[in-house]
Amino acid sequence: MDLLRSVKDQTDETEFHTPLPDGYRMGSTRYVAVFGTVMSGLGKGIFSSSLAKLIKDKGISVSPIKLEGYLNIDSGTLNPFRHGEVFVLDDGTETDMDLGTYERMLDQDLTAANFTTSGQIYSAVLSRERAGGYLGRDVQMVPHVTGEVKYRLRKLAAQSQADVVFVEVGGTVGDIENAFYIEALQELSYEEGEGSVLFVALTYVLSPPALGEQKSKAAQLGIRRLMSYGIHPQIIACRCESPVTEKVRQKIALYSNVPMRRVFSMHDLPSIYLLPQEMREAGLDSEVVQLLNLGSKANSAVDSRAAIAWSRFASKIGAHSREVTVGMTGKYTSLRDSYASILKALEHAGVANDAKVNVKWIETTDINAGNVAAALADVDAIIVPGGFGARGTAGKIECIRYARENKLPYLGICFGFQMAVIEYARNVCGLSGANTTEIDPDCKTPVVDILPEQKKIEGLGGNMRLGGQDVEIRPGTVAAKLYGAASIRQRFRHRFEVDPAHVVTLEKAGLIFSGKHPVHPIMQILELPPAVHPYFVAAQFHPELTSRPLRPQPMFVGLIKAAVEYHAAKG
Ligand code: GLN
Repeated sequence: MDLLRSVKDQTDETEFHTPLPDGYRMGSTRYVAVFGTVMSGLGKGIFSSSLAKLIKDKGISVSPIKLEGYLNIDSGTLNPFRHGEVFVLDDGTETDMDLGTYERMLDQDLTAANFTTSGQIYSAVLSRERAGGYLGRDVQMVPHVTGEVKYRLRKLAAQSQADVVFVEVGGTVGDIENAFYIEALQELSYEEGEGSVLFVALTYVLSPPALGEQKSKAAQLGIRRLMSYGIHPQIIACRCESPVTEKVRQKIALYSNVPMRRVFSMHDLPSIYLLPQEMREAGLDSEVVQLLNLGSKANSAVDSRAAIAWSRFASKIGAHSREVTVGMTGKYTSLRDSYASILKALEHAGVANDAKVNVKWIETTDINAGNVAAALADVDAIIVPGGFGARGTAGKIECIRYARENKLPYLGICFGFQMAVIEYARNVCGLSGANTTEIDPDCKTPVVDILPEQKKIEGLGGNMRLGGQDVEIRPGTVAAKLYGAASIRQRFRHRFEVDPAHVVTLEKAGLIFSGKHPVHPIMQILELPPAVHPYFVAAQFHPELTSRPLRPQPMFVGLIKAAVEYHAAKG
């Protein structure tokens, strides 16, 4: 249906190509498009999500979308080393880590419609061409590829019924990959009419240490480059290490023809969660409301309630009375972005416990029985996060053994859950050949395995089990206490799982599977009873993906609470 939809819109008489989704009314949705200039990694997602949050706070509904330049269809195959963590949505979509930033800032679940890649766009256009959807026309970047981009933005608007769609263009203005996105947004602005589309540019103000002053030339040129696409930004956010000086803001304002009140200094802050307040104080939210004529939709009572709740949270950042250190083991420890959601979940849980959480990175390829105690001597808790493949697993298992035997608070996530099962099987149940078939396909006791009957049940073949699933919680357990619910919904991304044939052996030896799939024999949470260990909890799912600033994830809150107690007991 979707493939052939353009037929009715396509004639020889017009150069316009504006396929509209069902139910879409032109000019009824507002759009905010955010571009990055000078360089990537400026925090477009952080800026855009903070601005969207401020608009949502006013009772105006928002929906964000990230337009990725790369040709991959999704982020599932991207190496977290290169691209940061793979963020999994409830519907199972594997996306860029920025979607996590949006979900956290907006406290809103997103779907596949909130994310697209060049790969998806091109593949839709090419499939439609093969299906005869362009009626003999030569298929071009403009208007057909740009038409597909506009179609997706409008489809999101129609589906989500959002008042404002926030569009983040990946990469940097001037990249070959994202040029058609920029052109599409320029066309969208033309078609939707004045006052419907607001353009925001992020730029970078250099401050070379040797000069000791801020330099705006790169920023100016970056904005000029955006203008050469026919886009005049109405708001400019200037990234810089320190607050951007009045003089530099003046230069940028004059050069870009943007009033000073809309040239915002986006300098480094101790936490991204302090940014919404800075933007509110600078009046950026009211500028957006005014520019997009949203005044009649804004509710000031709702807004001030949201502002108070947020500032209560933000005021606790950095105002802690105690500190703990959490050891993070893993393969990608050299790149913090690969664990972005875990770091955020720790920050939320720290605020909830009135504690600053420091992270110590532990490269487990170097850990063995001889040095594990020294490596973990200065941590108050440990996390073994998700992972794939054999590298560093022996060290991870040593860390888990140490945590279990020494009552060091432990949280295992996905692979860390599976490693905890293997450690328990080997060292408590005496099954020395216990392993996962992911690491050793021929191991003697595959306590973690891909199970044929479960493959059938899940209907996923050799693929990953992805996205939100229900978890039934056993009453009277640590998990039940943490969640205060009999059933929760959590997000998964795994292929292997605990073989149910070994569950009785493990449970007899004291391990408790306190969370299971409601129908199938899939183990989803494990724990040790409080009488044996103060906090030994692991999940087959990824609790970090659903932690939100004002609704911290219980497993992390529990870990930090236990870490605080462990730290105090150490003296
Ligand atoms: N490699 C494991 C599996 O596929 C764990 C995956 C993960 O940690 N995300 O089941």
